[in-house]
Amino acid sequence: MAKRKNFAIGIDLGGTNMRIALVSREGQLIRKIKEPTSGEILDILLKSVNELFSDDIAGICIGIAGLIDRQHGKILISPNLHAVETIDFLAVFEKKFGVPVFLENDANTAAFGEKWVGIGKNFSNFVLLTLGTGIGGGIVYGKKLLRVSSEIGHMSIDMTGEKCPCGNSGCLETYASARALLSKAISLLESGRESLLTEYCGGTFYKLTAEDINRAALDGDNLSRELLKETGRYLGIGIANVINIMSPEAIILSGGLIGAWDIYIQEAIKEASRRSLKELFDMVRIVPSSLLDNAGIIGSAGLAFQLLDEGER
Ligand SMILES: [Zn+2]
Repeated sequence: MAKRKNFAIGIDLGGTNMRIALVSREGQLIRKIKEPTSGEILDILLKSVNELFSDDIAGICIGIAGLIDRQHGKILISPNLHAVETIDFLAVFEKKFGVPVFLENDANTAAFGEKWVGIGKNFSNFVLLTLGTGIGGGIVYGKKLLRVSSEIGHMSIDMTGEKCPCGNSGCLETYASARALLSKAISLLESGRESLLTEYCGGTFYKLTAEDINRAALDGDNLSRELLKETGRYLGIGIANVINIMSPEAIILSGGLIGAWDIYIQEAIKEASRRSLKELFDMVRIVPSSLLDNAGIIGSAGLAFQLLDEGER
């Protein structure tokens, strides 16, 4: 019988950064490489994996922001990362490294990470939301990751709303994501609204980040506070819908926007309490991710171990 290998490589391929990590069978992050997602993405990934690779690697799993065809191991669409849609990751990586390779949605791998060694360990059923440029979702039910596409960011919350990169209009993420927050801020600043933000970016509005808006809000900037609250209320609508549909024990929030917990998330929680069934809201805990940026890489590696143990490849 072949020796049981002790490590896996987890990859988190996001629109801004890609992370590649060596993770032990116990869920310990041994080494991590972080690179910006630009240029020759595939070459950078292959080189990074090569640096971490050894004959004690059981498999590789790539988490990517997009819709995955799990049966054929293909990316169907990745609205924020079109450049990688045509890459046949499974074939390329299996040929180069000779170990099983898996593909999964990045919010699902983050949910797996939290379930395995993060705050999700405390719950049998939870929904994880990634709050960044877009909004992703992952569902753990009965302590198992549901390997389905949980496109929570694309639930319709407005019949006549703005166009979304997915093709629909009025999606949750066109109102509640970092991209939504920034585009609203920029259009108000361009219309002449006064704000500390103008100072922060020296008048070059497109350079603003969601962190800038949070910092300005904490410094007492009215425009930033209003925007964070409004964006948070939209998120609260999405959370209320998730609570009413799934009645999870917890909702775990991750992604860059959780840095704005005191305004954006608190407003979302208030709105969710108003809009969900009281009995269900009273049972749910809304908590931040405990693995933060590392949830995706740890979860990818963990999922590789699980799928191999289940004999998937
Ligand atoms: Zn959409």
